[in-house]
Amino acid sequence: MTVSQPKMKKIKPGESPNAFTGTSDRNQLNPIFARAGEATDFPMDRMPDQESLAETAYQIVHDEAMLDGNARLNLATFVSTWMDPHAAKLYSETADKNMIDKDEYPQTAAIETRCWVMLASLWNAPDAKKAIGTSTIGSSEACMLGGLALKRRWQLARKAAGKSTDKPNLVLSSAVQVCWEKFCNYWDVEARYVPISDDHKVLDGFELEKYVDENTIGVVAIMGVTYTGMYEPVAQIAAALDKIEADTGLDVKIHVDGASGGMIAPFLQPDLDWDFRVERVVSISTSAHKYGLVYPGLGWVVWRTVGDLPSDLVFDVTYLGGHMPTFALNFSRPGAQVLLQYYLFLRLGWDGYYKVQKTSQDVAVFLSSEIAKMPAFELWNDGTDIPVFAWQLKPGHTDKWNLYHLSERLRLKGWLVPAYPMPDNLSNITVQRVVVRNGLSRNLAESLIEDIKEAVEYLDRLESPMPTEGLKASFTH
Ligand SMILES: *Cc1c(COP(=O)(O)O)cnc(C)c1O
Repeated sequence: MTVSQPKMKKIKPGESPNAFTGTSDRNQLNPIFARAGEATDFPMDRMPDQESLAETAYQIVHDEAMLDGNARLNLATFVSTWMDPHAAKLYSETADKNMIDKDEYPQTAAIETRCWVMLASLWNAPDAKKAIGTSTIGSSEACMLGGLALKRRWQLARKAAGKSTDKPNLVLSSAVQVCWEKFCNYWDVEARYVPISDDHKVLDGFELEKYVDENTIGVVAIMGVTYTGMYEPVAQIAAALDKIEADTGLDVKIHVDGASGGMIAPFLQPDLDWDFRVERVVSISTSAHKYGLVYPGLGWVVWRTVGDLPSDLVFDVTYLGGHMPTFALNFSRPGAQVLLQYYLFLRLGWDGYYKVQKTSQDVAVFLSSEIAKMPAFELWNDGTDIPVFAWQLKPGHTDKWNLYHLSERLRLKGWLVPAYPMPDNLSNITVQRVVVRNGLSRNLAESLIEDIKEAVEYLDRLESPMPTEGLKASFTH
């Protein structure tokens, strides 16, 4: 079906185009939702045959985007949903910048370097100037790069020793984010998952020697496990690896996946040893678009020293007649987010980041303490690591409903509070999780508690069990 546009009104000689109507364009006279194109259907499976008015196309896309949820009420995502108006202005001014084009945008390239040097120093690199880092499209790319560096370092050492490089493995918790499953799948590395359990809720070094061998390229430690928000004790994992080295001679390094915790711990737990203060940590990644507070998509990865990033992974791009090293999966990608990150570093500084993160944590702890008071629930953790916590239904509380039903009830009020099973070996446990981000005010949090109480009262009053057909785990990332 083709979309026909009304013809322009003919203007007679001598007639002012603006006479009477204020415009010569008949399309613009149409009431907006009755306009051709707006009032008819655009095909969805192929490109429309003809052009349409910018206003019409805009309105259609704008309206369709309206059907997405209200991002501020989405307590499932870690990703920034609010930045201040100056950031919005900067974003629209710099949306055309391409991060890879260091010739055209040398200043953006210089700012990128300043940002990761700041991060290297925030993460206590022994000498930030001797560290090396890069921006990425998010933590996933940053983790891939961290993993690739571990793999190449291991390959080079094995080859030098005349040993096989056929069977690399990576040791990680069963509660890793999916990007690590991808890494292992895409780059042919065996994933050795250490299952979480009631006694070991996170990877903590327990029985690590059963997983690590001469083919282990590294161990991943997560600062802020996606499922629950808990920190893995990096120093304790490193101590277990020290013991393994003393016993076997194997020197296995750690990549810290600090997707969210990398921008929380430096401010809220400055005395916690998780970063480059732990000698075994060779690289750290974070999502700038999570607690780095930038719009998606931006991530960072930093290596302790230039020597920790095998040089044969690094490509040279020419840069104002000189050379600029790059290590990335993408070629072209947006540069604007890097400028937004720099804006926030300048705008907030350490104190500002502290205040923002502390406020989120205060709200998280308020919410978790209120939920802990409700007889239906049992907390999994309380939001004192990153401002994220999860809870489960108290065993024996009810046989009429589960957390998926509660999630659905809350959806009626606009809240997105996901429920999902825990990973192995606790996949029989269902939890529900709240991620508190900048923008979830104490006021909104109080409303959420009221809505949870009301939903629980409703569900508890049921005379027969809710149907369990069609319930599904929600998106948790
Ligand atoms: C979100 C997350 C990732 C993936 O980050 P993206 O920036 O979304 O690519 C990786 N690891 C952890 C622990 C995460 O929470």
